[in-house]
Amino acid sequence: MTLAGARLLEGGAIAAEIRIAVAEDVASFTSSQGRPPALRVVIVGKDAPSTVYLERILRGCDKVGIDGGFVELDGEATEANVMATVRDLNDDPAVDGVIVQMPLPGTIRLRAIIDAIDPAKDIDGIHPMNAGLLRLGYDGFLPATAHASVEILRRSGIEIEGRDAVVIGRSAVVGMPAAFLLVKEDATVTVCHRRTRDLAGHVKRADIVVVAAGKPGLVTGSMLKPGAVVVDVGINVVDGRIVGDVEFETAREVASAITPVPGGVGPLTNALLLTHLIRAAERQAEDRLSRREPAATRGDR
Ligand code: NAP
Repeated sequence: MTLAGARLLEGGAIAAEIRIAVAEDVASFTSSQGRPPALRVVIVGKDAPSTVYLERILRGCDKVGIDGGFVELDGEATEANVMATVRDLNDDPAVDGVIVQMPLPGTIRLRAIIDAIDPAKDIDGIHPMNAGLLRLGYDGFLPATAHASVEILRRSGIEIEGRDAVVIGRSAVVGMPAAFLLVKEDATVTVCHRRTRDLAGHVKRADIVVVAAGKPGLVTGSMLKPGAVVVDVGINVVDGRIVGDVEFETAREVASAITPVPGGVGPLTNALLLTHLIRAAERQAEDRLSRREPAATRGDR
């Protein structure tokens, strides 16, 4: 779809293609292992946004034949309860991927829970081992949103190599991994944050702008270099509507391509998470084979 000026980079069609490929891999895993690959999401005290996110993940699993499920702990659960749940899932040979739904209650140390996840099952790439592999440019599990923010460029045929990119946001789960991925793709990358003195100046020089700040309207059309490509990762609710961090109406007049919110990075994030899960399942099955362990079956749980 083309708008006045900007090409719309939609994640839905790319996600559908990815899901077709994942469904084939899932079918072949299921026939060789005697069970579908399995994902478990740990959720502590359900609130509305995390329920929506959980349902989206489970629906995505369902579409491709992945055994998706969740373990729900009540909002009073302690750090020890959550760690014990994660360790049980780590030790379960019939569970291939583990996600701990954020945010966790304030009484629980995030770091302790992240460290407890088996890096081999950490399909959302939050364990320090996977973060380190990305930093070194090696293969590990990528945080799905950061992965999607760069994959949408690659799959849309946007040139990354040699171009100037600005990433706004330096979180461990979105901004920094997106920046490392862009470096890996041979872009020249500047990371901006709240203390950046001249945000508009940095954005004006960028060929590619990835915005992951959580601040609606942070980037406007007048800040962009004409022809820039804009990836809007932000998800904000304003007046009951979901909007990104970029002022879409003005940005689309100046950009050459832009991701919409919703419908851009979000759908791709969910599809890529499924690719991470099947990869985790295949790798663990190979490991079991090399250790000559019997394949896990549903009955093992
Ligand atoms: P976060 O942990 O709150 O990090 C936000 C980052 O943006 C921080 O580094 C912060 O700088 C920077 N920032 C905030 N306001 C800024 C400003 N005015 N100028 C410059 N930098 C600013 O958030 P996150 O988890 O990375 O998420 C970022 C956004 O992506 C949120 O809107 C979130 O909802 C969205 N998200 C989308 C998906 C998806 O699938 N599309 C998935 C996850 C998250 P400091 O470091 O200096 O504080």
